[in-house]
Amino acid sequence: MAVYDEFVSANEVYASKFDRQATGALPMPPARKVAVVTCMDARLHPEKFLNLDVGDAHVIRNAGGRVSEDAIRSLVISQRLLGTREVVIVHHTDCGMVTFTNEQLAQKVKDELGQDVSGRDFLPFPDLEQSVRDDVAAVRDSPLIPADIPVSGAIYDVTTGELRTVVRA
Ligand SMILES: [Zn+2]
Repeated sequence: MAVYDEFVSANEVYASKFDRQATGALPMPPARKVAVVTCMDARLHPEKFLNLDVGDAHVIRNAGGRVSEDAIRSLVISQRLLGTREVVIVHHTDCGMVTFTNEQLAQKVKDELGQDVSGRDFLPFPDLEQSVRDDVAAVRDSPLIPADIPVSGAIYDVTTGELRTVVRA
């Protein structure tokens, strides 16, 4: 049985209790005018550790919470079309992105899938604090992000639930 089947069952219960007044009628632009870029790690529940309610924020997630081309794409849409005016980058302790190099992953893809992805950057990083600084700088330096947009960066500790500031806008 695919996990998807469990999702379908769970959703039937969810939808039967769905609050159309409080949730279904929310406007599309995030109420708190903020976009968060963070890791896809399953242990991160940013809505909880940042106290985000439904409708509050854009949460852009990928492997590492990296400011990739696609993250910039989402930020441009978030800011230009949906009115967000602040960016927060959150990386985290024990991140899988510090456990491999591009070369190692390329070898694994070659061995297991027979595909050559040598030269492709999967955006791993060896230093957690530096990766936060790099990604704050990547947003700061993008010509597609206005200079007056505050950009902060932090590290979430998966063992304590605490957020440690690295860059305060
Ligand atoms: Zn991670």
